[in-house]
Amino acid sequence: MLRIKQQDIPGLKVTIMGLGLHGGGLSSAVFFAESGAQVTVTDLRDRLTLKPSLEKLKPYNIGYTLGEHREEDFTKSDLIIKNPAVPRNSPFLKAAEEKGVPVETDLSIFLGLVDNPIIAITGSKGKSTVASAVHYTLLSAYPDARLGGNITTSPLSFLSDLKAGDPVVLELSSWQLADLSGKGLLKPGISMVTNILPDHQDRYDSMEDYVADKKLIFREQGAKDYAIFNYQDPYQSQFAVQTRAKAFFFSDSPLPAETEGAFLEGSAGWIRKKDKPEQLLDEELSIPGRHNRLNLLAAGLAASLFGLPVAKIRASLKDFPGIEHRLELFEHKKGLKFYNDSAATIPEATAAALKSLKPPITLITGGTDKALDFSPLMEVIHLADKIFLLSGTASEKMRKLFCKQWIAYAGPFDNLKETLMAAVAESQPGGSILFSPACTSFGMFLNEFDRGRKFKALVAAL
Ligand code: ADP
Repeated sequence: MLRIKQQDIPGLKVTIMGLGLHGGGLSSAVFFAESGAQVTVTDLRDRLTLKPSLEKLKPYNIGYTLGEHREEDFTKSDLIIKNPAVPRNSPFLKAAEEKGVPVETDLSIFLGLVDNPIIAITGSKGKSTVASAVHYTLLSAYPDARLGGNITTSPLSFLSDLKAGDPVVLELSSWQLADLSGKGLLKPGISMVTNILPDHQDRYDSMEDYVADKKLIFREQGAKDYAIFNYQDPYQSQFAVQTRAKAFFFSDSPLPAETEGAFLEGSAGWIRKKDKPEQLLDEELSIPGRHNRLNLLAAGLAASLFGLPVAKIRASLKDFPGIEHRLELFEHKKGLKFYNDSAATIPEATAAALKSLKPPITLITGGTDKALDFSPLMEVIHLADKIFLLSGTASEKMRKLFCKQWIAYAGPFDNLKETLMAAVAESQPGGSILFSPACTSFGMFLNEFDRGRKFKALVAAL
């Protein structure tokens, strides 16, 4: 196992593979450049696409190989920092490993350098919401608590400001977990799996492989640590017996008497460790949806295991405002409410959104397919009064399902502006326009955040 020390970095030849636009590659490049390394950035995307990230690197002396990868950047380097989106079987990474060049990530570097308390959160959906809610709650007692990982903030971006004892909440994707596998670095004091739903089946051979990566979050935990699981999730039913950590559960309905954790009873949330239950969640919350109620319950359980008093957690969670791109109510216009749910990249997320809003709902959906099953969305599609499809491979799949069930839709439209215009023209005042794509965003947008921002800009211009 490699554990880079800060003093080893000056002069080190570091190749950042995958600059990207989410901030991970950028923060790695800045961190190593500021620490005195000789940095090379390489990315298959071209200069124009990467412009927002490249602009931010202007002040640093960095070498670039863009629009392609060159073997020598990998074989003649001392260290490779891989972006989680780069597949592990990349021939360039193989070439590096054959020459004995270590392959790390921003997270492995971070975890090797710090000794702060870590709360690590993974899952198919709800990661960002839960991680943000845990962080929001911790801030009431630890104003310097930090939030990073898959949530577009690399922990390397705040490493130098971190003081001993500051808690760090890390949102981890399955790829980030896979990259940490076997390194002995991921030992969070508290781990959580929000839920497991079919996702990324275009990149995994099977659901088992995907679940195996999720399990890495608790694999290296010890007996003094805590692991939080979703009581209703069939994929997680054996997790508690597979971890050394003490298991706690969160549940959509009351837990059996011997099971410790947090549960919903009606709309209220309760926590029960050894003794009698205490109320953790109010009936009135600031964000909509049963799924979000469960997300906040799970966040409250993590904050309580971290040591925060239940009354303080309850007060914080009641006010948690939600986060951008997740069922975000961002505009009232023309008698309509506009929701940006661009982070809904799988059918289950759009299903959750439809169940969360009051009718009438005009749904704008569709995008690129990643070999997912749309039946979870089809089960609740009747909750949408009107459907407008944005073109894409997944939309073709949806059209076939709509036709089978005699469900009316408009489109597919080739651009978002046209879709929005048509949706607004056909919607009744008093209703909601919900942009919840249920798919990824390749082709028309850079990523789901770009997609959400474009939607908001179009609505602002209406
Ligand atoms: P992640 O970070 O895991 O992608 P987010 O919190 O960013 O999850 O939410 C992404 C999308 O999934 C949003 O549309 C959100 O409303 C939806 N979502 C969040 N939690 C759940 C859940 N428990 N079940 C289904 N959908 C969810």
